[in-house]
Amino acid sequence: MISYGRQSIDDDDIAAVTAVMKGDWLTQGPAIEAFEQGIIRDTGARHAIAFANGTATLHGCTVAAGLGPEDVLATSPLTFMASANCGRYVGASIDLIDIDPATLNLDPTKIGSDVDALVAVHYAGLPVDLRALNRRPRVVIEDAAHALGAMTPDGPVGNCAHSDMCSFSFHPVKPVTTGEGGVVTTNSDELAERLRRFRSHGIVRQPELGGWYYDIADLGFNYRLTDMQAALGLSQLNRLHRFIDRRNAIADRYRLLLADLPVTLPPAAPEGFRHGYHLFAIQVPDRPRVFAALRDAGIFVQVHYVPVYAHTISADIGKSAADYPNCAGVYEGLISMPVYPDLTDDEQDYVVATLRAAL
Ligand SMILES: *Cc1c(COP(=O)(O)O)cnc(C)c1O
Repeated sequence: MISYGRQSIDDDDIAAVTAVMKGDWLTQGPAIEAFEQGIIRDTGARHAIAFANGTATLHGCTVAAGLGPEDVLATSPLTFMASANCGRYVGASIDLIDIDPATLNLDPTKIGSDVDALVAVHYAGLPVDLRALNRRPRVVIEDAAHALGAMTPDGPVGNCAHSDMCSFSFHPVKPVTTGEGGVVTTNSDELAERLRRFRSHGIVRQPELGGWYYDIADLGFNYRLTDMQAALGLSQLNRLHRFIDRRNAIADRYRLLLADLPVTLPPAAPEGFRHGYHLFAIQVPDRPRVFAALRDAGIFVQVHYVPVYAHTISADIGKSAADYPNCAGVYEGLISMPVYPDLTDDEQDYVVATLRAAL
């Protein structure tokens, strides 16, 4: 099947998962820390905390940051709802910052004076330039679900050079997968400690009171990853750079093959940045017809995303498409074309030929 995105699994991945299944620990075992160390190696952050999924990581970020009903959390309108919902989970108000059509990311120079927390989404794998913030809110969280393996002039996404915490997802379409999974990176010892507690019921072990003893002072969840998933993630990290290279090669090839078509190509990475190409989102005229033609030809394209303001849950934000003209304009034509490491040149040629015929 040709889809907009999919996992790449090899025999080493399968062997890594099988080895865990034959061992002592299916959850809360050593594979979790090994995976977290792999993320630390690849991002350069001080801490990495694995979670059950990327939505749980974002929830962990807003709780660890101490956000609450007094606070305003701002994010991009062009994102998956989890980027905004993490504010709702702690009762914060949600604000949206229109995108810059040159990057499709929220415009970092438009952070309002009332924003307490920013969730900067690296849309499609192109990092938001956090050096350009017009003001730094109290809390800066990166939603890097699309951007593991992407680079900024200050190093790998996830090193938290300009943020408090950075959240990753390991859903099968994301840069590497654990089936379901997430990781938060941070350079703060205190935030790391809170994230660990929150992930596991708020439990704090107190061996000085007995080997069995633990205390729970704060509300937590069971947001843990399993050891099978962590082993898959660690094995996948061995191929992270190969995956991102392949995604970039597919993107370069699309740019050549689509050059003469009436489509808007996605923004390329500016000088000093490396794009992750989680998505290759083009803008086409007459999107409903083109979308249907691609789906009819067996190409499972998708639209990323129905804007946050358009959903029923966002009625309380009190805004509409007219308030976010850049996002609304881009959304009209968006289609995510297939991009994933195992997509072959022949498959890409078929996708391009189908698109060409539809246009
Ligand atoms: C996938 C995704 C998430 C959520 O991750 P899950 O692991 O699916 O919970 C959050 N934000 C963005 C932008 C995503 O694409």
